[in-house]
Formats: sequence, C-alpha cells, structure tokens
Amino acid sequence: MASVSFEGVWKVFNTFVAIPNLDLNIKDGEFIVFVGPSGCGKTTTLRMLAGLETPTYGSIRIDDEDVTLTPPGRRDIAMVFQSYALYPHMSVRSNLSFGPEVRKESRSDLNNRVEKVANLVGLHGLLDRKPAELSGGQRQRVALGRALIREPRIFLLDEPLSNLDAGLRTHMRAEIADLQRRLGVTTVYVTHDQVEAMTMGHRIAVFDRGRILQVDTPAQLYRNPANKFVGTFIGSPGMNILPAELARDGALGRIKCLGSVFSVPAERFFTSTDLPSRVELGIRPDDLHWTKDAPSRCREHIFGTVRATETTGSETFVLVDVDGVEVNARFPSFADIRIGQKADLVFDPNDLHFFEPESG
Ligand code: ADP
Ligand code: MG
Repeated sequence: MASVSFEGVWKVFNTFVAIPNLDLNIKDGEFIVFVGPSGCGKTTTLRMLAGLETPTYGSIRIDDEDVTLTPPGRRDIAMVFQSYALYPHMSVRSNLSFGPEVRKESRSDLNNRVEKVANLVGLHGLLDRKPAELSGGQRQRVALGRALIREPRIFLLDEPLSNLDAGLRTHMRAEIADLQRRLGVTTVYVTHDQVEAMTMGHRIAVFDRGRILQVDTPAQLYRNPANKFVGTFIGSPGMNILPAELARDGALGRIKCLGSVFSVPAERFFTSTDLPSRVELGIRPDDLHWTKDAPSRCREHIFGTVRATETTGSETFVLVDVDGVEVNARFPSFADIRIGQKADLVFDPNDLHFFEPESG
C-alpha cells in the first residue's frame, strides 16, 4: 500500500496544456475516483502516475519516494484499461500468470497464487477457458485478476466498465468496490460517469479542462459543490442553475429570481458584506417539490409550465419551463402530472446554493 502526491504537475503536449499545475494527495488505502467529461485530463493524470507519461513540470511522489522519472516497471503499480487486452489464444490461467513478475515463481507457488486470485475475482472453475469462451463480465474479471496477481501497491483503473452493459456495470461496480475494501490497496479509478464515481469512491476528484475543481467525499460533493460546474455535473439530473438578482436588506438577502421574490438570512449564505448584485442560484431537482406534497418548511414558489414528464413508478421527473429557463424537478413517488399544465414548484430557501457568475 502507498500514498501518492502530485506536486505542481503540468502536462503539455506540444503547445497544448492538458494539465496545468495539479496538486493532489491520495491517502494510503484510499479509493479515489477521477471523474469529469471526456478530454478533461483524467487518463493523462493516471498515465503520469503509472509512468507512461512524464510530467512536463512538477513531481510525483509515492510514499516518500520521488518517482517522477521512475520507469513504469519499477513503480509497483498495476493498471486495468477499458480494453482488457487479454491474450485470446491463452487460457484464463495463462492470462493471469503471464506477467514477468509472476513468471519468476516456482510452479506450485504460481498455481497457488492463480487459484487465490481466481477466487478473489470470481473466476473459480473457469481457469482453463479461453477469453472467447467468457462473458464480458468474466473477461473484465480476468483483466482485474491479472493486475491483482502482481500484488501492486497501487491499483489504477481507467474506465474499466465502459464495455459492459448497464446491468453488469452496476454489478461489477459493487464487486470492484468490495474487492478494494477487502484488499485495502490504494486505488485510483477513472470514469466519466458521475453515478459510478458517487457509488464507488471514498473521495472523488472532479476534473474540468485539466483542473481539479473539488476533491471531496460523495456526500460533500452533493451537498456543498464548490462551484456551478460541480453542482451541475454531480446528480442525475444535476443541479438547476437559475439567474437571480440579490440585494441586501438588513440581515436579509433579498432575491429576485424568475418572477419570484424572497428573502434568505444573509449571514447564512454570504460571508462578505459586499454581496454581488447578480448571482446564480443552484437548486437540486429533488429540493423542488410539487405543491401538494411539499414539506411545510418549503414556503417559496417558482411558477411555470410543465414541458415534459416521465415516471418510473417510484420517481417522477418533470421538466418545467419558467420564463424560458428549463428547470428539472424530481419527486419521490408517482405523480400524475401532465404536459402543458401549470407547475407550482415549492422549495425551502435553505436548500439553495449561491454561485457567483463567471466573469466574462
Ligand atoms: P480524459 O481521459 O479525461 O478523457 P485525456 O487525459 O485522455 O482525457 O486527454 C486530455 C487532453 O489531452 C485531451 O484534450 C487530449 O486530446 C489531450 N491529449 C491526451 N494525450 C495526448 C497526446 N499524446 N498528444 C496530444 N494531446 C493529447
Ligand atoms: Mg480517458
């Protein structure tokens, strides 16, 4: 096991700055997820940790050792890729025991090790099959097993579930998280899927355009997003962003938003006495309630027209047009709501998030 730190790490490809000045500490035994849209630098960061890319500036440490220039084979890291890269003509057993680290062992030690890993990843009884005779999930397990058999001190996974169908993905998500818990090995998991990130990580690093915008637990990311990007990226659907005007009125902040006017206790939301006059309000779809089902603490309203509605039986999603702004709401039950009907969405101002509009 090992801790990791990135210190002032940059990666520049020709003139393109893929990673500007990354600082990040990963704790020993932690399961950290890198999440963000495609092209935001997750793989590049992972490859720098693996030693497959060299940082243009800055340094990377594993425990107290500077590994910035250490070749990949000497970092004691195992990586699982999206394409499993199994050897098609070899059995599962041979695929598992093919690596240079394990080939040095005696035959009986190696057999023991293969059996142990096969049990760990659920491949028991399949060791003599070829990859073509396995399901997608089983092939994924071989790829995991092949990385684990080396007993690396750090385990890296880059979108390992992208090739699986939705049901299997959910299952493997739980399996990988469970495996990590049992082994306690420091793990970095890359995904563009926020649900995967939220359900798997001890902590999540949210990437956007080469930068980490927030590193936090899933609960903190959900409750206290550092900015609008994190708020809208996390959650399905993500946070609604509504334009608003703000004025201070004694101890209150007075807010005008989409035709409604209401107040919030200024101290609770704003540390500075100079309030920005324009803000963006964030509100989660599940913090908007349908009038008759609203908890009594919810006293403020947004009015609009229902544009779309969808129910799964246990949840109802509604898209409401409010003065041309699309607002998503999610209700925790079946709601009989029709397209075109007037919507009265009720909320508690304490559930609002305030973001300063980006300059420019
Ligand atoms: P992600 O894994 O988050 O989708 P990547 O780390 O693969 O993103 O890529 C980040 C950015 O760096 C992208 O704009 C990508 O095109 C660019 N990039 C990655 N590798 C190279 C490379 N070898 N040469 C040039 N540009 C690259
Ligand atoms: Mg990638």
